[in-house]
Amino acid sequence: MMFIKRLITQGIIMLGVFVVAILAIIGVDLIIACVIGGGISFGGIVFGCIKLRCPFCHAGIPIQGFFIEYCPMCGEKI
Ligand SMILES: [Zn+2]
Repeated sequence: MMFIKRLITQGIIMLGVFVVAILAIIGVDLIIACVIGGGISFGGIVFGCIKLRCPFCHAGIPIQGFFIEYCPMCGEKI
């Protein structure tokens, strides 16, 4: 389950980067593109910070990486 939440988080962050690229390509001002894309990516990070938590000690689980099976704080299997 943690794997899926991390995948969603990384997906939203990637979407933000993707949106910046698309908007830049279609001629939107780069600053506006960065604000919109950055906002999406930031939303992904916030989502990750809220959802990627150890169910035992409630420590934040790193967004990076794919197969983190054990909590880095308490060592419980997540
Ligand atoms: Zn923990």
